[in-house]
Amino acid sequence: MQSDTIAAISTALGEGAIGIVRLSGEEAISIADKMYKGKDALAEVASHSIVYGHIIDRTTEELIEEAMVSVMRAPRTFTREDVVEINCHGGLLSVNRVLQLALKNGARLAEPGEFTKRAFLNGRIDLSQAEGVMDLIRAKTDQAMNVALKQVEGRLSTKVQVLRQALLETVAHVEVNIDYPEYDAETMTHALLREKAEFVKNEIDKLLRTAAQGKILREGLSTVIIGRPNVGKSSLLNSLVHENKAIVTDIPGTTRDVIEEYVNVRGVPLRLVDTAGIRETEDIVERIGVERSRQVLKEADLILLVLNYGEELSPEDRALFEAVAGMNVIVIVNKTDLPRKINMEEVRELAEKEQLVTTSLLHDEGVDQLEQAIAELFFGGGIESGDMTYVSNSRHIALLEQAKATITDALDGIEADVPIDIVQIDITRTWELLGEIIGESVQESLIDQLFSQFCLGK
Ligand code: GDP
Ligand code: ZN
Repeated sequence: MQSDTIAAISTALGEGAIGIVRLSGEEAISIADKMYKGKDALAEVASHSIVYGHIIDRTTEELIEEAMVSVMRAPRTFTREDVVEINCHGGLLSVNRVLQLALKNGARLAEPGEFTKRAFLNGRIDLSQAEGVMDLIRAKTDQAMNVALKQVEGRLSTKVQVLRQALLETVAHVEVNIDYPEYDAETMTHALLREKAEFVKNEIDKLLRTAAQGKILREGLSTVIIGRPNVGKSSLLNSLVHENKAIVTDIPGTTRDVIEEYVNVRGVPLRLVDTAGIRETEDIVERIGVERSRQVLKEADLILLVLNYGEELSPEDRALFEAVAGMNVIVIVNKTDLPRKINMEEVRELAEKEQLVTTSLLHDEGVDQLEQAIAELFFGGGIESGDMTYVSNSRHIALLEQAKATITDALDGIEADVPIDIVQIDITRTWELLGEIIGESVQESLIDQLFSQFCLGK
């Protein structure tokens, strides 16, 4: 019997503004009480309620965080033990401090998957569910951590160095032409400049694309299935879930009454979000006007829009197309086993920019094509796991975005025949921004390198 109390950060590391530290075990509530200060002690609050208070380090009286704390008493919890969840909003750093504080007060750091293991050992979930969750953890770490994190460090800096070198040479040529007109350096023509700048921009673009993919691997693709009543949304969900081992994390009674199902579609983890009323979208058409529904749609990475082959297109169907315009949408025409009533020409027009898949979920047909379409939409066919560099650090991504903007400015300048020494400012800026990724960006080093490269100090 496991009885010690474990703690861990239970939200995705490094992302998002809210972080949750979760404790589970006999002493979860008493440990949390040692670090909590609020209206009542946590031992006094009703089970399955959430209270506001402060997290403090009683040894120093230091205020660590403002927090919402949920208290859930056994056995109606995920682990069937007492569970406390401390919702922090201060980002990774303060979530970490709260976790450290919990450890200091007697909790033990949970091993990966340990909450799930306890849920299983305590009979809360069965083995296949437990395996499912472990698979998820593993899938996400193998593909996300391995691919994204382990590989990124060395590989990314090599790539960045290549780009900086290209920019440096460009800048060096320009500088030489300006400062030493008598020096016999090749004149940097607009054409040559453009070539270098374009090369750099393309490479930055490639890196940024991997960032989007890295994020998907890490967090899953949040996916919403929409469609009129009866078109086959639930059937679609079920076939995705059945064909790809699904993990249902059902946390009844918590303040977040959310079921999340992950399915692994050709290496792409789909997170099928089911907030109240969103999966059972029977009334999504009416709800579409409701701000919240719009928000859920807006935040989705992928929309699966289901139509009925056996019925004519309705105004509601068209409204759905409008609601998801400009998003990543795959249109599914289901029930192809029925006599056709839908006007496929019209569907193709409406789905002009979207991928279109036909299915007969009743007969298990078309799901393969749908999965292929999903993989293609996000990874051009599949996930390249082995050799890819996935940029996953948000600081790197931000710097790459800025570098892309400045190199684009440079290219625009070249296009507009702006004098080269002006264009050079943008190029230098790009060089600096890329340098920040690998931690070097001092103007002086540019000058040093410039001179060492051209041996001008005669
Ligand atoms: P939802 O209301 O959009 O979630 O639709 P459901 O998935 O609940 O499906 C509604 C009905 O359509 C159910 O009776 C399904 O069995 C049926 N259905 C789903 N897919 C198909 C299909 O491909 N062909 C036929 N003939 N019926 C289907
Ligand atoms: Zn349904």
